[in-house]
Amino acid sequence: MRILIVEDEEALALGLKFNFEQEGYEVLLARDGHTALNLFQTAVPRIDLIILDLMLPGMSGYEICTAIRTTNKLVPVIVLSARTLVEDRMHAFDVGADQYITKPFALPELLNRVKNLLERYRTILTDAGSVSSSNDLATIEIYQFGEVRVDFHAFEVDVGEKKYSLTTLEMQLLRYFIEHEGEVLSRHRILEEVWDQSADVTTRTIDNFVLRLRKILEPDPTRPKSILSVRGTGYRFLGNKSAAGDG
Ligand code: CA
Repeated sequence: MRILIVEDEEALALGLKFNFEQEGYEVLLARDGHTALNLFQTAVPRIDLIILDLMLPGMSGYEICTAIRTTNKLVPVIVLSARTLVEDRMHAFDVGADQYITKPFALPELLNRVKNLLERYRTILTDAGSVSSSNDLATIEIYQFGEVRVDFHAFEVDVGEKKYSLTTLEMQLLRYFIEHEGEVLSRHRILEEVWDQSADVTTRTIDNFVLRLRKILEPDPTRPKSILSVRGTGYRFLGNKSAAGDG
C-alpha cells in the first residue's frame, strides 16, 4: 500500500516515512500542495492513503483536500495538524477529511488508524466493484426511499431533481443508518461502529454529520422524518419504514 505524506517539517516527514516503511508501506513525500496534487494524480501504482498537514507553504491542507475530493471521494485522508480548535477540525471534515489527529500524536495510534482506514478503503472498493450475490446489505449499491435515491457506488444522493455528492464519512454514516433501519442507535455505538474506536472525535461530531445529512435528505431539516432524534440517546433512521412506506 502506498501512502502520501504531505508535510513541510522535514524531520517529521522523514520520521514518519521511516516508521511507515518499517511497517511495510511504500511512502511518497511532498512538502507543498502543488507537489502533493501532482504526485496524487500521476503516481503509479495509485496512492492509497494521504496524511496531510494543514499549515503548508502556498496551498493550505484544506485547499489540498478540497482539490483531491473534486476527483476522488474515496481515498482516505488523515489530517495531522498542530491546530486544536474545533473550527479547524470541522473545516477539515467539511472539505472531506476522514480523520483529524492533533500534534503531538502517539505513533502507534497513527499507525493503527492508517491500518484501519486502509482496510475500510479496500472493503469499500471491493463492495463498489462487486456484483451483489447475497442479500447482505453491504453489497447493495442503490437504496431508495421516498424521493431519495442513494448511489453507494458513485457516492451520490439524488433527491427529486437535485444531485448531491457525499464524502466517504457521510456515506459511511448514511450506509450505517440504512443497514440499521428502524433501530435506535446511540451516539456511542455510532461512534464506535462508523468511526474508528480510536478516532479523535466526539459525539458532537456525529450531530454535525447528521445535520448535514438532514439538509440533503429531509424536505424540512428542522422537522426530520428520516433521521429522527431519540432524546438522550441518539438517532433512529426510518427510510422505507417511515410514514407511507411499509418496507
Ligand atoms: Ca506545517
